[in-house]
Amino acid sequence: MKSDIEIAQETAICPITTIAEKIGLTFDDIELFGKYKAKIPLEVLEKFDKKAEGKLVLVTSINPTPAGEGKSTVTVGLADAFARQGGSVMVALREPSLGPVMGIKGGAAGGGYAQVLPMEDINLHFTGDIHAITTANNAIAAFLDNSLHQGNPLQIDPRRILWKRVLDLNDRALRHVTVGLGGPLNGIPREDGFDITVASEVMAVLCLATSIEDLKGRLGKIVIAQTYDRKPVTIDDLGVAGAIAMLLKDALKPNLVQTIEGTPALIHGGPFANIAHGCNSVLATKTALKLADIVITEAGFGADLGGEKFLDIKTRQLGKTPDAVVIVATLRALKMHGGVDKKELTAENVEAVKTGFANLKRHIENMQAFGLPVVVAINQFASDTEAEISTLTALVEALGVEISLTQVFAKGGEGGLALAKKLSAMLQEKTDFRYLYELETSVSDKINKIVTEIYGGSKVNFSVKAKRQLREISENGWDNLPVCMAKTQYSFSDQASLLAAPEGFEITVRELIPKIGAGFIVALLGDIMTMPGLPKAPAALKMDVSNDGKISGLF
Ligand code: ADP
Repeated sequence: MKSDIEIAQETAICPITTIAEKIGLTFDDIELFGKYKAKIPLEVLEKFDKKAEGKLVLVTSINPTPAGEGKSTVTVGLADAFARQGGSVMVALREPSLGPVMGIKGGAAGGGYAQVLPMEDINLHFTGDIHAITTANNAIAAFLDNSLHQGNPLQIDPRRILWKRVLDLNDRALRHVTVGLGGPLNGIPREDGFDITVASEVMAVLCLATSIEDLKGRLGKIVIAQTYDRKPVTIDDLGVAGAIAMLLKDALKPNLVQTIEGTPALIHGGPFANIAHGCNSVLATKTALKLADIVITEAGFGADLGGEKFLDIKTRQLGKTPDAVVIVATLRALKMHGGVDKKELTAENVEAVKTGFANLKRHIENMQAFGLPVVVAINQFASDTEAEISTLTALVEALGVEISLTQVFAKGGEGGLALAKKLSAMLQEKTDFRYLYELETSVSDKINKIVTEIYGGSKVNFSVKAKRQLREISENGWDNLPVCMAKTQYSFSDQASLLAAPEGFEITVRELIPKIGAGFIVALLGDIMTMPGLPKAPAALKMDVSNDGKISGLF
């Protein structure tokens, strides 16, 4: 079997102008980034103002396991399947972060014959958006430290600074640092730390903004510290929202690329799916909805995390809810949920599929509770057996839910035709979408609802710190914001080891972090790593570039 990068490099890639033509964009409508990438300026949305929006398909999954689910792979392959049927279709995806690419994950632009191209660029520096976000984030830090140094007119308490510096790498040595050392000329010494860029609130803001004006407004509201009397200090207080928006003006424009089969794809923004909402930018999805009749998009991690946040956070900014949901499951991952060890996954185990199905079942019911039609996509792996596939099919069909075996990894769009066909019929139906919670309810009520109705937990406990923060949230008038849950992606609960569909567990909210620019309150359940480390053998060990610039080992 060829590696992802070998398949990508063997594909004849079209000039991006040809891809743009497919969605009605002329040379003047796009800003070229070399031959195969382009940015779409925001004015293009105005040009298509009168055009009705397309149908939106959200791809989500069961709780991830180390066995892998393949959401991006299915998202890309499904779009290619629709394109093969002659549909006007686009993909909207997140952009990979260099930290995980070089660390554990390798490339993140789909897999096999369902990938986006040019995969090397997308996985590396791409169009520089993430670097722009790094710079914007660190400029805020520099202005903040300068304000402290210049007499601290905002009365910022250096012990209560929330804003961290960022870098788009996995670098555990930077989690805790001290800045301002070296005497009076070098600033005010204080403890600081680095997060990975995709965890920056600037990333979340960029992904939820709908215009430059909205971007600037959101940036201005970001809370960066507290004063000595514990009042929030914002970027507007620093007076640099305009300058920071300026640094991001090009990063705000969605990036146009293509799939292996030449389907137009927008890859834009990549916020963490725990500390942030975990989906590509609102502007990319909006643009795709104007340019194509069908848009396939993805939310990070499982349907309990990325899926719930897509529906409760992103759709409120997008002004559009999905017309159908695809839940990706693999038999390998379901077997892990059914108790099988990672080393034993290639052996047939029908009983484990039955046990692990409990995980998929809860995700199906959760998505249906939003009033959305659901179809399950089995992302087929070579080791899946007939008996396992038919067992899962029968279990899903017994719920009255459609299921489709997809082979997009091995066959590209052709392997997703059956899924596309099922979805085409579903997309004709009207949906009856309902949010899980109304914004007017309190933050603690929203968290309770998510925990009891989505996760299957029995009770939410708030730490002493979180209780105090709940009071501060009310005092500051932030109660009406949606909640962004930050928990382990592996389990419905806050413990990674509780697989399948645990019940009756309690959840503890350790801390609440106001992300007022992004427009949500993060609820931290347990330790969430905002600056990952590298493993003993990082993926980078396999990567190389030849004298003629050809990249290898990027999976
Ligand atoms: P996710 O979006 O859920 O994180 P990806 O689509 O990025 O998952 O896939 C994760 C990894 O698994 C990729 O390296 C991809 O090549 C691989 N993969 C996905 N589907 C299959 C499959 N059906 N068979 C083999 N490998 C696969």
